[in-house]
Amino acid sequence: MFPRFTYLIQVLRNVERSLINSIFHNPPKELALAYVHQRDTVIPSKKFSIKDIVGDGFLLAVPKFRRTIEKRLKRKYGSPEYVWKMLIPKTNIKVCHECGHYHEQGRLCEKCYKRVQEETRKIKNKIQEKIGNSRIEQDVIVLYEGESIPDQKRKENETHLSE
Ligand SMILES: [Zn+2]
Repeated sequence: MFPRFTYLIQVLRNVERSLINSIFHNPPKELALAYVHQRDTVIPSKKFSIKDIVGDGFLLAVPKFRRTIEKRLKRKYGSPEYVWKMLIPKTNIKVCHECGHYHEQGRLCEKCYKRVQEETRKIKNKIQEKIGNSRIEQDVIVLYEGESIPDQKRKENETHLSE
């Protein structure tokens, strides 16, 4: 039924076109009919999919070309001209004067840094515990256990913090 109907429409269009062509020799400008040529939509029988080939499996990225031994070794161990990946003994190791641990020259001693960091955290917590979030308008002196307030500061000091 449907193909016949489209065929009928096609025939009617052809008749219309041939009539207009025979009468006016070309479509009149005033009574121009808009004609859009409709191509028959071709439905692809089946869309190609990679799934048809692979099925349940999966694809892996695989190298296309073989790498030479030189390139492989260069990637593995590096090269002195570019990046040398082999382990080199360090000669810039120093001993910390404070704690005796080893550290790299030009860098902070890790153990001392951790100690100071922990101490700072404790002091901060203690200050927050005593003063809270209110504004700090007076001098704050941090005292360690067994320490006393220096004499010149004793008069103006109001807040005592002790660990
Ligand atoms: Zn140290």
